[in-house]
Parts: sequence; C-alpha cells; structure tokens
Amino acid sequence: PPADKTAEVVVLGGGPGGYTAAFRAADLGKKVILIERYPVIGGVCLNVGCIPSKALLHMSVILNETKDMTAHGISFAQPEIDLDKMRGYKNSVIGKLTGGLAALAKQRKVEVVTGYGKFSSANSITVTADDGSEQTIAFEKAVIAAGSRVIKLPFIPHDDPRVMDSTDALELAEIPKRLLVIGGGIIGLEMAQVYDSLGSKVTIVELGDTIIPGADKDISRPLLKRIKARYENVFLKSKVTHVEAQPGGLVVSFEGKDCPTQDTFDRVLVAVGRTPNGKLIDAEKAGVAVNDWSFIEVDDRQQTNVPHIYAIGDIVGQPMLAHKAVHEGKVAAEVICGLPSAFTPMGIPSVAYTDPEVAWAGKTEDQLKAEGVEYEKGAFPWAASGRSLSIGRDEGLTKALFCAKTHRLLGAGIVGTNAGELIAEAMLAIEMGADMQDIGLTIHPHPTLSETLGFAAEMAEGTITDLI
Ligand code: FAD
Repeated sequence: PPADKTAEVVVLGGGPGGYTAAFRAADLGKKVILIERYPVIGGVCLNVGCIPSKALLHMSVILNETKDMTAHGISFAQPEIDLDKMRGYKNSVIGKLTGGLAALAKQRKVEVVTGYGKFSSANSITVTADDGSEQTIAFEKAVIAAGSRVIKLPFIPHDDPRVMDSTDALELAEIPKRLLVIGGGIIGLEMAQVYDSLGSKVTIVELGDTIIPGADKDISRPLLKRIKARYENVFLKSKVTHVEAQPGGLVVSFEGKDCPTQDTFDRVLVAVGRTPNGKLIDAEKAGVAVNDWSFIEVDDRQQTNVPHIYAIGDIVGQPMLAHKAVHEGKVAAEVICGLPSAFTPMGIPSVAYTDPEVAWAGKTEDQLKAEGVEYEKGAFPWAASGRSLSIGRDEGLTKALFCAKTHRLLGAGIVGTNAGELIAEAMLAIEMGADMQDIGLTIHPHPTLSETLGFAAEMAEGTITDLI
C-alpha cells in the first residue's frame, strides 16, 4: 500500500537524542518527521528523568542547607512542605522546556507525528495512535532514538501502588514514613535524597560493595559517609529476594551481611537500572540487528548494520545519559547530510546530583589500573580549600589522573558541592589534550571550588606551594 506520508529523514523517538537529530537534519535542509508515542516531545530526560529530578533535588538541597545552617548560627523554623506546590513547580519547569521544544520543531518545519512506531519494512514505519488509527511513513533514512525503560524484577509486586519506579517517585504522591530504595546507583541515590530531605526514613540496599558502581571508591566515599549518617540504613553487598504486599506495608525479604532477613516499609522504590527498547520496534522487519541485551549496535558514525538506518542514545549502549544521546544525535544527522562527522569523544562525563555531588570524566583510576596504564595522580582534599571551608562543606576531593609519559590529563573525579559543574573543566582539558602544566598554570579565581583542579594538577607536578 502507498505510504500516508513521506520523509527524507524519519526519527523514531522524541527524547534528547531524537529531537537533536531531527532539528539538526532539518537545519541542514532535510524534510524530517519525528515520531513520538507521547503527546509531548522531550523523552525520558525532560519528562521523567534529568529535569524533574533536578527540580526536586534543588529543593532538597535547600531543605538540607537550612538544617546545616543551625551549626553556623542561623536557625530556621521547621519548613512547611506543600507537595502539590512542589509538584506544580516541577511540572512548570518541564512545561517550559517541552513547550520550547515544540516551538523549535515548528520553526524548523519538523513534523511531529504522535503514536507508537514500528518498522514495517526497511523503508517504512507504521505509527499507531492511541485511538488505534494507523499511518505509514515512508523514509529514505531513519534514526532510531527509542530510548530505554525501567527494569522490573520478577519477585516484586510492581502493580502495587506502593511499589515505585523512578517515574512514580518523581510524582511525589506522598512522603512515606519508611522508604526502601533498591539500588545504590545514581537514580536511586538522587531519589533517596529527595525523600530523605522531605522527612522519610530511607534505607538503601545495594548488591555491590559500594554505591555508584562505575565511580572510583575514593570519589563516592564522602557521599557514602554522609548518607550513612543521615539515612536509617545503607546495606551494601545485600539484596532483596522478595517483596510481599500486605495491607500494613510492603514486607521485604533480604539476603546479605548486615541486613535483617525481613523488614516492612511503607513504600519501595525499585531503581536497579534501565533496559533499551531495541526489541519493541520490529527492527527485524528493517533488517536492523538487535543484540541479546536489546541494544542496537552502531559504528562511530551511528550507522547500524543497515546503512541507511542510524541509531543513537540509550538504545545503542552505555552510558545511558542525555548528553551522550544529544551528541550522537547530532553526528547521525550530520552523517546523513553528507558531513564528515563521527562520535569519537575522549570521554563522557557522569554526575550524581546528590549532596555532595559525585562526578567523573575520562578514565577512572580503576579503569587505568585494569588497563595497565601508568599514571600520575594529584588528589586535592577540599579540607584545604578556603572556599569549601567557608561554605561549611569540606568533605570534597578533586582527583586528577595524568599519563605518566605525556603528563596529559586522562581522567578526573570530583566529589563535593557543585562537582557536576566543576567536572566540565576537566572534560574540556581531557578533550583538548591538556597536560598537568596547562592546568596547573591556568589561573583559577580565588577563592573558588574550581581552584581545586588547578591544585590537583600542581600536586601531581610537585609544584604546589600552599594549600589554602
Ligand atoms: P529517551 O529519552 O528514552 O527518549 C526516547 C523517546 O522515544 C521517548 O520519548 C519514548 O516515548 C519514545 N519512544 C520509544 N519507543 C517509541 C516508539 N516505538 N514509537 C514512538 N516513540 C517511541 N541523564 C543525564 O544525562 N543526566 C541526568 O541527570 C539524568 N537523570 C535521570 C534521571 C532519571 C530519573 C532517569 C530515569 C534518567 C535520567 N537520565 C539522566 C538518563 C536520560 O534521561 C537518558 O539517558 C536520555 O533521556 C536518553 O535519551 P534518548 O533520546 O536515548 O531516549
């Protein structure tokens, strides 16, 4: 049958990867259709990910700071929390961003088609709307940007409203008295912090021997120390084996070294990771290979095994981060338009927007050791930073890892207030091949937290004169 619509480029999925690819291809002169199952574009990141979590975390840090200020001589009254207003604020932030995106799509004449898309051949996608109506879109080139979804566990009653995933947790339905967070990764820790600052007694259970697997332990340790002191429990090397929904609460069975065998919680947040949507789009009808983990493999031009079909974002692999999706989206669009682009970054920064923040870029120390790379290290403790002492948060650490031969920066890890902003300088240095002298000789403003990277480089060089 003839197609209902045709496009030079069709993009499947309207998240950060998808809208970036669509906008860039349109800017380069292509006729673009963007298919998104939900009525608003923005994907996980804008609607139920990065942005709403950061809006809530901002409020959470303020709540924490008002408490911390007591030690500095300023006491605030007990805060009054209006969940409806908090939710409203969060939703208004989302609304501004998604509204902006819709306008940007219109400006570029990117046609947004709402509905669930699946490949019907190597040159067509069939989109099914909520009302069941179908339309077929024929394309010359396609970009798959269908993202990922939360992983569910078979021994947990996910249908019970007291069992939450990250999307539910962001809805702030209530402040549970006792909350169990399953998973000590970035998403679990961020949501744990929101609920802790709102007054929940939080327990975290993590399978690994530390939180934030992926980050070096010295970088995650200050966060672990702080949450161990604040939260009801942090169980490491432990797992949940069963959750039973009882009228009086969720009865959770544990296995592990320090945890009880059973305990009852008001709510449970499952944050054990995300799985790509590779197997949900009939990729095989287009001949696109999807691997056993549901990822679609691509080369550094974002091309799949089918040359005119590209893939980007969470669906092509780790790390599942919005900024990776955005850069890949740009590359895919540019390659489609004949530009010599490739996705070859020197690193992709990761940030846990917790309190303190944990951030790293380039190689971790664990990776350098595993790869047998000879390196030199400068690690500057924030207890010697005038600025971090002034703000009463001196638990931070800035670590810089340099190649022993070239002295170039290979990786950096930062824990402390604003680490997520500070890591950007390290990422730029890595990308530009800066060495320890470049960083050490760069004059950073005093007193700032940014100085700590300069100090770390000077420590590696052995040229530091004072620690203030
Ligand atoms: P997605 O954002 O998943 O978008 C895919 C889109 O495709 C969705 O809108 C989906 O509805 C649509 N779609 C899927 N299948 C179809 C189909 N068949 N037909 C039509 N439409 C379809 N990353 C960061 O970098 N920083 C953060 O601070 C951060 N915080 C996060 C917090 C939470 C709670 C979560 C869950 C994630 C967070 N992430 C963060 C991860 C980030 O959201 C993702 O990496 C990013 O959204 C991936 O972008 P994407 O374009 O690949 O896919």
